[in-house]
Amino acid sequence: MGESTLIDGKAIAAQLRAEVAVRVAKLKADHGLVPGLAVVLLGEDAASQVYVRNKAKQTLEAGMASFDHRLDAETSEATLLGLIEKLNADAGVHGILVQLPLPGQIDTARVLNAIDPAKDVDGFHPMNVGRLAAGEDALSPCTPRGCIILAKHVRGDLTGLEAVVIGRSNIVGKPLAQLLLRENATVTVAHSKTRDLPGVARRADLLFAAVGRPQLVTGDWIKPGATVIDVGINRIDTAEGKTKLVGDVDFASAQGIAGAITPVPGGVGPMTIACLLANTLDAACAINGVETPEI
Ligand code: NAP
Repeated sequence: MGESTLIDGKAIAAQLRAEVAVRVAKLKADHGLVPGLAVVLLGEDAASQVYVRNKAKQTLEAGMASFDHRLDAETSEATLLGLIEKLNADAGVHGILVQLPLPGQIDTARVLNAIDPAKDVDGFHPMNVGRLAAGEDALSPCTPRGCIILAKHVRGDLTGLEAVVIGRSNIVGKPLAQLLLRENATVTVAHSKTRDLPGVARRADLLFAAVGRPQLVTGDWIKPGATVIDVGINRIDTAEGKTKLVGDVDFASAQGIAGAITPVPGGVGPMTIACLLANTLDAACAINGVETPEI
């Protein structure tokens, strides 16, 4: 086999953000409506701060309003719930995202459940989880939504394809499996108790790795020609005493066996914020009873 096709998540995400920006401009022109995204961050975690800064920048670039709420790490649950109540009632806010993980004094489930499901652009509220499972319209989690866009970019229609998702977390694996069902793929969800994981993975036309184990999936787990979407983001030490980011797939051994593969970084990562913007646009339209503008 020749080289695997590299799936350029950075370029595909840029294209999606550009499309969102055009739709936002139309929404503004036709309905005088500006979608607004509120992001709530507690504490000083460096990675979260970078992530939140990028979200705000890209929200503004798409022509939307961005509202940053930075609270200190000692903030009480009652104060946070009070802020969410205010954002739920604010007509200029259509999306609310609480950056996870939250500090220990706060019950994460209670906070996520307090977000108005219509503004739940992360898609973590039980109402949206249930709607997604029931095949109804729902705000779906951003990373899985991004994975589907990448898979369709390579394969077009996913109907009838064998999809294997390694990982069953509530934020990636499970919602990704639901979205794949919606695309008429035949879905297997594997996890830490799966027997013969390499054998299960080898069945996949579409292999998704969302495990959090650096380079777990090696080339011999991959069916020749399969599309491999690597969700993992892991920091490892290099021989030179530095650190680098790697995925859950061992890129070097997968290369040449996979038909197409996402790099880490530059694959699924950039899709997440782009899908957050798309979700915020969808939420603004749904809340105001208007169709998402066509382009
Ligand atoms: P998680 O909550 O820790 O879930 C990991 C899943 O992998 C669990 O279902 C676990 O199985 C399974 N697993 C663990 N070890 C395994 C093994 N040896 N063999 C088979 N399955 C195994 O992780 P997550 O939040 O889903 O995130 C997964 C990865 O995606 C992480 O690297 C994370 O950083 C990355 N991520 C990236 C983005 C992005 O690109 N924007 C977004 C979210 C997450 P059990 O359920 O049996 O324990």
